[in-house]
Amino acid sequence: MSPPLVEIENLSVRFKGAKTIHAINEVSLTLAQGEMLVLLGESGSGKSVTLKALLRLMPKSAEIGGAIRVNGTDVLSLTGRALQEYRGGEASMVFQEPGLALDPVYTVGQQIAEAVMRHKGVDRASAMATALDMLQKVKIPSPERRLKNYPHELSGGMRQRVMIALALACRPKLLLADEPTTALDATVQIQILLLLRELQREFGMGVIFVTHDIGVAVEISDRIAVMYAGAIVEEGTTAEIIKDPRHPYTQGLLAANLHDVPRGTRLEAISGAPPALEAKPESCSFAPRCRHAMPACRAGLPPMVAFGQGRRVACLLAKNTEMTGA
Ligand code: SF4
Repeated sequence: MSPPLVEIENLSVRFKGAKTIHAINEVSLTLAQGEMLVLLGESGSGKSVTLKALLRLMPKSAEIGGAIRVNGTDVLSLTGRALQEYRGGEASMVFQEPGLALDPVYTVGQQIAEAVMRHKGVDRASAMATALDMLQKVKIPSPERRLKNYPHELSGGMRQRVMIALALACRPKLLLADEPTTALDATVQIQILLLLRELQREFGMGVIFVTHDIGVAVEISDRIAVMYAGAIVEEGTTAEIIKDPRHPYTQGLLAANLHDVPRGTRLEAISGAPPALEAKPESCSFAPRCRHAMPACRAGLPPMVAFGQGRRVACLLAKNTEMTGA
């Protein structure tokens, strides 16, 4: 069996300021070569911070602990040129709002070609040929003409296709996608999801995809890791998580899902709000919102229970198969 493409061990991220924010606490994850993993959870659960830690896109106030290895590279020890080569070469990212991520003063072709020249050391003509090839791969209409367009001349869906072309132009082994379809219309959203899936298979990349939308997660992923309050609370194959969610938070997310629900069905919201993350949790962070909470849940951190093939749940009731409904 080949080693994992990504290994995250006990990752912790703290942001120092007037108040310390414990954004990520002891997160451990692996991603196999060619696998699509979704990080699922509400805003503030730590999904995007985990992605940014993987690319070392952290503000100076961040304190990072633990270990991250991508294709054998110790990411947290990279500096200078090695870090620049890793970003965009080994691993790259598609952001939620491509209008902010793309440079408004350069054409689409110049931006993709620049990245290819920097990482592959080829001349401009060859880099432009790669840029055109990538625009064809992301199925942009009239790709020759689009090479000469500036980002503001394109629709939101086309800008996201350009962002994907830019991220994949240097053939990274790892693609990080941070809610890349959230700002798009529903029809464009599904086109972009299908495109990402197709390119992931064609390029054999590992992908970590962040979303708060369980419908998107089901559509695109092989495996799902559910995050809450800076920690992973449940992980398993997509089929297992959908069929048999064990953590009350995952059950709540599924019960609140708007996709494929018959008209008139009463949806169940998860009451309350996520915690403020100003202290490292010493008990179950979900307890104030959990209808199964009991005194033991507030007495200490629930251990991560592993069972089946790669299935993990951080809940004191994880082994109780009668636990249904959040
Ligand atoms: Fe609910 Fe307790 Fe499980 Fe936390 S450990 S999710 S409070 S049952």
